[in-house]
Amino acid sequence: MGRSLYTKLVLIIMTLIVAFMVVVGAFLLHGVRSFYLSQFYEGMQQVFSSEELADSLRAAADSDQAVPAISEILKANIGRLGIDSGTRNYYILDGKTGEYLTGSNNPEGGIVNTANILTAINGQSGYKSDAGADFMDVAIPLSGEGGSYILYIIDNKATVQSLNDDLARIILQAMVIGLMISVLMSLLLAKTLVTPLQELTHAAESVAGGDFDQKVDNPSRDEIGVLTQTFNDMAGTLEDTLDNLKKSEQMRKEFVANVSHELRTPITSVKSYSETLLDDPSMDLEMRKKFLNVIVNESDRMSKIVQDLLTLSRFDAGSIEFEFTTFSFEKSVKDVYSAMRLEAQNHRHEFTLEFMSPMPDIVGDRGRIEQVLMNMVSNAIKYTKDGGRIKMTAGLKDGKVWCAVRDNGIGIPKQDVEHVFDRFYRVDKARSRESGGTGLGLSIANEIVLRHDGSLTLDSKVGRGTVITVTLPVGGPVHE
Ligand code: ADP
Repeated sequence: MGRSLYTKLVLIIMTLIVAFMVVVGAFLLHGVRSFYLSQFYEGMQQVFSSEELADSLRAAADSDQAVPAISEILKANIGRLGIDSGTRNYYILDGKTGEYLTGSNNPEGGIVNTANILTAINGQSGYKSDAGADFMDVAIPLSGEGGSYILYIIDNKATVQSLNDDLARIILQAMVIGLMISVLMSLLLAKTLVTPLQELTHAAESVAGGDFDQKVDNPSRDEIGVLTQTFNDMAGTLEDTLDNLKKSEQMRKEFVANVSHELRTPITSVKSYSETLLDDPSMDLEMRKKFLNVIVNESDRMSKIVQDLLTLSRFDAGSIEFEFTTFSFEKSVKDVYSAMRLEAQNHRHEFTLEFMSPMPDIVGDRGRIEQVLMNMVSNAIKYTKDGGRIKMTAGLKDGKVWCAVRDNGIGIPKQDVEHVFDRFYRVDKARSRESGGTGLGLSIANEIVLRHDGSLTLDSKVGRGTVITVTLPVGGPVHE
């Protein structure tokens, strides 16, 4: 493809140069011819319109030695008439027949009667020009008592012909040089035009083959430079998109593996306990009750996992409608505090609530916000040894309300903190399971808070405790 573009360039430039030279050459050659022709006739007319010359010629024609007398006058004006006896000559012809009498040279084969001579024979001055003829002439009739004659000046155009020949040679040479330049220019153009295109083609082939690292270097700002930049951007975007696809595919695989794993454990428990119950009809009632309790608990767990997964997948699909209303955030915090008090007491936790500033009403989905607060407090209770300290504080800052739940529990290792919002991520799986956790609570809470244009942040130190804070804009999300 590159070669054909290059050939096209060479041919176009060559054709342009040849066409240009032909047009310029034709104009030049024609211009020189017409200039020479008009110079000749203007010169002749100027000379013969002179009264003085006309008088002396008339006087010469009247003398009985008319021919030598006229000849003398013409000789005297050789310079003005441009007679060189080679290219241009003068002749004195017989006024009736046009026959040669004398002249600046002796014409071989005599003088042919031209249109101008015939005009002069008829008594008129012949100044007619024929641009196409290979000569130019003037014939002026002259009559007196010494007879009638014709003054005849003829130029065989040899000078203009040789000038034009020279000019044609120069134009031809210029054409050859122009063609050589055109080849060089095409090479140059090929370098600036075809090479970047070839590079782009190679890069595009590599990208098509899956290698997105191909970047083409072209700093120019012309169309090809812009195309190259766009190509690089496109390759970059494709690479990013593919990376994201790979990442989300990886996440999907991990998620499916997690779901399967999470469901398999309770299913295995339910199955084995049920089988034991079936196999041992003599089992005492107490034991039977215990086994059935395990089955009920594990079933509850499964249904909680499935419910949480359903909620998350609805968030992902955007099919959950939030009910945004204006409500008292203070009341919600108080309600959650009251609802969790008994649970905290069961674990002998010291559970307190404090408002740091007067609280405004906020726009949001009340039920879901309370679900988030509940999850925060429930985690604090779960991951703090019995007899711990859990403190709820709430306030208003920069047009946003916040509520923090601080505990002096087991804390979260630094490397795990950023993952606690990931689905199924649990620092201590056994502990989470024991306390009925699914590892989905904070993921759901985070989704809810994000839908409110708020944020959920967590700070923790192992062995010291954790503080989790939710912040929500008072006016609700910008786009509900
Ligand atoms: P779970 O149902 O397991 O509690 P969450 O999504 O609510 O799931 O929390 C994810 C993990 O974050 C928990 O398993 C736990 O390891 C850790 N975590 C959350 N809150 C706390 C806390 N207050 N103290 C210590 N660890 C916590």
